[in-house]
Amino acid sequence: MATTPSDNPLLDFTALPRFGEIRPEHVTPALDVLLANAKAAVERAAQPMTPAQWSDVVEPVERATEPLSRAWGVVGHLNAVADTPELRAAHGENLPRVTEFWSSVGQNLELFKKYKAITHHDSFELLSGERKKILENSLRDFRLSGAELPEEQKPRFAELQERQAALAKAFSDHVLDATNAYAFYATREAELAGLPEDVSAAAREAAERENKEGWKFTLHFPSYFPVLQYSENRAMRETMYRAYVTRASELGPVYGAGKAEWDNTAIIEEQLKLRAEEAKMLGYDNFAEVSLTPKMAETPAQVMSFLEDLATRARPHAEKDWKELRDFAASELGLAQIEPWDMAFAAERLRQKRYSFSENEVKQYFPEDFVLQGLFKVTETLFGVHIRPDSAPVWNPDVRFFRVENADGTLVAQFYLDLYAREGKRGGAWMDDARSRRKLDGNGVQTPVAYLTCNFSAPVGGRPACFTHDEVITLFHEFGHGLHHMLTRVDELGVSGINGVEWDAVELPSQFMENFCWEWDVVREMSSHVETGKPLPRELFDKMLAAKNFQSGLGTLRQIVFSMFDMALHVDFDASKGKSANDLAREINERYHVIAQASFSRWPNTFSHIFAGGYAAGYYSYKWAEVLSADAYAAFEEAAQAAKSSVLDESTGTRYRKEILEVGGSRPAMESFKAFRGREPNIDALLRHNGMEQPPAQQ
Ligand SMILES: [Zn+2]
Repeated sequence: MATTPSDNPLLDFTALPRFGEIRPEHVTPALDVLLANAKAAVERAAQPMTPAQWSDVVEPVERATEPLSRAWGVVGHLNAVADTPELRAAHGENLPRVTEFWSSVGQNLELFKKYKAITHHDSFELLSGERKKILENSLRDFRLSGAELPEEQKPRFAELQERQAALAKAFSDHVLDATNAYAFYATREAELAGLPEDVSAAAREAAERENKEGWKFTLHFPSYFPVLQYSENRAMRETMYRAYVTRASELGPVYGAGKAEWDNTAIIEEQLKLRAEEAKMLGYDNFAEVSLTPKMAETPAQVMSFLEDLATRARPHAEKDWKELRDFAASELGLAQIEPWDMAFAAERLRQKRYSFSENEVKQYFPEDFVLQGLFKVTETLFGVHIRPDSAPVWNPDVRFFRVENADGTLVAQFYLDLYAREGKRGGAWMDDARSRRKLDGNGVQTPVAYLTCNFSAPVGGRPACFTHDEVITLFHEFGHGLHHMLTRVDELGVSGINGVEWDAVELPSQFMENFCWEWDVVREMSSHVETGKPLPRELFDKMLAAKNFQSGLGTLRQIVFSMFDMALHVDFDASKGKSANDLAREINERYHVIAQASFSRWPNTFSHIFAGGYAAGYYSYKWAEVLSADAYAAFEEAAQAAKSSVLDESTGTRYRKEILEVGGSRPAMESFKAFRGREPNIDALLRHNGMEQPPAQQ
C-alpha cells in the first residue's frame, strides 16, 4: 500500500504538489490515511475529557483536516483540468466519503458543545479577534444546521432537509426534461433568414444526428437565444418563445414544452412551505432571515430598500431604452407593436446599427503577453508587489507558475496560470486555493498558493494566443479573486483570504478588477495588434464602451424583478392564501418593470437559481456585489480626479490592499468596506458606470 509521503505524493505536504507523480491509484490509499486522521482528531476533540480550549479543540481538528482538504483539493483540481477515466473513477469513488465526513462534523453535537464551551471559558477573552470570529462562524453554522434544536424536533428537521434536497433535484430535472423534450424543425431554407451561419450549421447537424432533413432548433440556450436575437422569421420566434417561457408549467403541454408531470408549480409551493417551516424551527420569522444570517446584508427590509432605490433610479433610463426600441422597431423594422418575442431581435438590430464593431478585430489587439503584462502592472503599481516567473511541477506543459513578492523581495504568494482550453479540461474560468495562508507550528507562515484557470483559445500557427475583450475581463476577474486569496495577512486558516468571507461580498475583489479593462490608460498599454504592434484605436475603444451600457436601464430592471420576487417569496408569501408564485411574479413585474410580461409567461417555473440552487433569498447578491465593487473602484476614480492623474493611485491601492484584501474574512465585510471607503456603500458609482448617473435628457 502506498501510504507514506515517499511512495504516495498525495501525502506529501512539505512543498507544492508533485503533479508529475500523482496517479489515480494514489487517491484512495491517501484518503484512507487522511480521513482516518481527521476522524480521530474530531473524536478526540469532542471527548468529555478534552479541555474546552482553542489549543485542545480547534487547533488539532484544523491540523488534521487541512491536509485532507489540500489533498482532496489536488484531486478535484486534476479532475477539472486533466480528466482521465481512471482519475474520474477515483474521484467519484471517494467523493461520498469526503462529503460524508464533512457533514458528520457539521452534525457533531459533542463538538458543537465543545465549541460553545470555549466561548464561555475564561480563556475566550484572551483569544485574538480572528480566533473569536472563527468560533462565532462555527457556532452560527452549527445552529443553522439544527444543532441547537430540542431532541424531539431533530427528526423533523432532518426530514425537511432531505425533502428540500429531493424537491430541488426534481425541479431541475423537470426543467431539463421540458427543455429537452421540445424541438422546432425548420424544413425550408427561407425559414433561416437572419440566423448566423454557425447557428444554422449546428441546427443542421442536430437534424442529421436524427437522420432528418432540415434544421433542428431546441430550447437549450445556444440554440434558442440566437433564434430570438437574429431570426427574421417572426412566427418561428413566437413559437419558440412560447415554448421557452412555459417550460415546466401547467401551460407546457399546450405549447409543447413539457408534460403535465413536469409542471413545477406544486414543487415551488411545497419548497416554500418547507423553508418557512425550517425558519420557524430555527427561531426566525421567515426563510429570508435564515438566508441572510451568514451574509453581509442584514435584513430582508434592507435588501428590499436597496433594490427599491436602484429601481427608482434606473426606471427613467429603462423608459428611455424602451421608447428608443419601440421607435426603432416601428420606423426601421416595420413592427408597429413589439411583442415579447421581438424584444431580443429589435435590441440586437438597434445595437448593430449603433455600435457595430467586430469582436474578432478587437481580439487581434490583445495578445497574451501584453494582457498579462498589463494585468501585472496594474497589480504591481496599486499593491506594491512584484510578480515574477517561478517554477513548480505542473499538470500540463502549457501551465505557467509565478511568484508574488513584496518590494523587499519576501515571498507573499504563488500562483498557477492555466489559460487554454483543451481536451479533458472543464469549461469556464475560476480561481481555487491550492493552499491557504496560516501560521506554522514552529515559526513563520505558510504562504498562499492559487490556481487560476481559464478556457481561452491556445496559440495556433506560431502566432501568440489572442484574447477577446470579454476574455481579458474574465482574466482580470479571476485574478481579483486570486489577489483576495494571495494578499491576505491573516494567520488563521479559517478566516484567511477568501475563507469565511460573506457570500454576498466575495465578488467584490473580482468585479473590482474588471473595471480596469474599461480604463483607457490601462487598455492602451496592454493592447498591441498582433501584426502591426499598434495599440487599440481610441475610436474603437469608445464604441466598445458605449455598447457596454446599451439598454442598461432595461437590464437593471429585469434583475430587480428577479431579486424582488425572490425576496418577497421568502418573506411573507403563502400559497394557501389563493395567490400563486406566478401571480406574485406578474405583480412584481408590473410594479418594477416598464414592459408588461407575456400573460402566458411562467418564468418562475424554471428559476433554478432559487428553487434548485443555493440562491434562495440570495439572488440580490449579484447587484449587491456590483454596488460594492463599483463603489470601491470609485475611490480610485476620485483619487485620480483629485490628483489629475491615472486611476492607478498608489496610496488608494495601499489602503485597498490593507482594508479589503489583507483582512480576508477576519471581520465583517461591511466593516472592511467602511474602513476603506470611510462610509457605507452607495449605488451612485454603479449607476454612473452603467451610464445612468443623471436622469436621461428629455427628448
Ligand atoms: Zn467571481
